[in-house]
Amino acid sequence: MSKLCDVIVVGGGIGGLAAALAINDTGKSVAVFEQAPEFGEVGAGLQLAPNALEVLDRLGVKEELLKYAVFPKRLVLKDVYTGKEVATLDLGEGFQKEFGQPYIVVHRSDLHRVLYEACQKRDNIQFFTNSRIQTAEQDASSATILLENGDKYTADAVIGADGVKSNIRKLFIEDEPVNSAYVAYRGTIPIEEVPNDITRDDVVMWIGPNLHLVQYPVRSGKLFNLVVVFKSYDATVEDWGTPDEMFKRFEGSHPQVQTMLKFINRQFKWQMYDRNPIENWSKGNITLLGDAAHAMLQYLAQGGVQALEDAWCLKEQLEEKDNYEEAFKEYEKIRVPRATMVQRSARKWGEVIHAEDPVLIMVRDALFERHKPTDYHVVDFLYGIFKKDKASVK
Ligand SMILES: Cc1cc2nc3c(=O)[nH]c(=O)nc-3n(C[C@H](O)[C@H](O)[C@H](O)COP(=O)(O)OP(=O)(O)OC[C@H]3O[C@@H](n4cnc5c(N)ncnc54)[C@H](O)[C@@H]3O)c2cc1C
Repeated sequence: MSKLCDVIVVGGGIGGLAAALAINDTGKSVAVFEQAPEFGEVGAGLQLAPNALEVLDRLGVKEELLKYAVFPKRLVLKDVYTGKEVATLDLGEGFQKEFGQPYIVVHRSDLHRVLYEACQKRDNIQFFTNSRIQTAEQDASSATILLENGDKYTADAVIGADGVKSNIRKLFIEDEPVNSAYVAYRGTIPIEEVPNDITRDDVVMWIGPNLHLVQYPVRSGKLFNLVVVFKSYDATVEDWGTPDEMFKRFEGSHPQVQTMLKFINRQFKWQMYDRNPIENWSKGNITLLGDAAHAMLQYLAQGGVQALEDAWCLKEQLEEKDNYEEAFKEYEKIRVPRATMVQRSARKWGEVIHAEDPVLIMVRDALFERHKPTDYHVVDFLYGIFKKDKASVK
């Protein structure tokens, strides 16, 4: 079979497109296969920490994205009942100096579009839609994807960036997504509809037992993003996580929270699954990237960010190594420990913010209170990954 291109990317989400761009930067031709009728993203917000911005900067798309971004002043944790600020992180000048990049919030489709447009400008990135990939296979010198309609395409290598329900992942392990029993209702509303007493300045996470609500503006402040998250009373039934359950979970919450819950019918529901970490996601000329490799709960806002880190690492390894197999093995060696740590930390952070035991909550909040908003050590393990590179460049 004749070769379609150098590298096939399965999945045109944020991870797949970032990978396409990064791989193309090494001079390789790429084809992206997406199951949906068109390339796009869901209507909700995305927090992007400095480790994401550094990759976007290196990929040459940061400036374009910043046109649609909002720069929040602080990350704030608030008690869902009293509204008391229990912890804050200042995102001002000191933060940007510490990490060399800002913290921004954007609409997902803005990031997706900026990546897609950057890919479209390249001569040698092809796009295929309505193309659901069933699996991939390889021999010594090539890798072939098999579409559900029976078509086949061959390249030198295949990257599985096909999300939490990845088909390509099945080549490495027969595992299933892990049901967290938490559900998210998310979406955006026009900023004019947001009552004036609700701040537009910060990323606010209202926290309480078995629940939280995140709010922040996106699209240059024109839209307001809401994410309502709670634990279902019974995550075994098909429709688990209903609006009725939500109102029950949030009983007694702060009036501002109650106001935002009223937008539930404008939001879409997302039952939340992650994956257990795996140690092996590369074999020969096939590897995984993003949620396909390391789907995580969104509590640290790092799932998409980690996909971007993957893309950059892949590019570096493809530049350094002579062949795909070696590059993918080294990529896996570098990325597995990092992604595993973030996956596990996200689960742990969920336990912390969703704590039910009043004593635990008291201890947690007392510890939070001791934290200074400008003490960035607590987030260094996540956001600080490129600090060494930057120091060596100086
Ligand atoms: C409520 C919520 C909030 C979040 N907030 C943040 C945040 O603030 N910051 C952050 O960094 N991350 C966040 N995340 C995580 C982030 O959304 C994901 O980690 C990120 O979208 C993963 O990107 P991906 O490209 O790997 O996978 P996906 O976005 O899932 O993309 C996979 C693509 O592959 C396609 N596909 C799937 N199967 C096939 C197939 N068989 N053949 C062809 N195509 C296929 C899909 O249609 C899709 O386009 C959040 C997640 C949730 C649920």
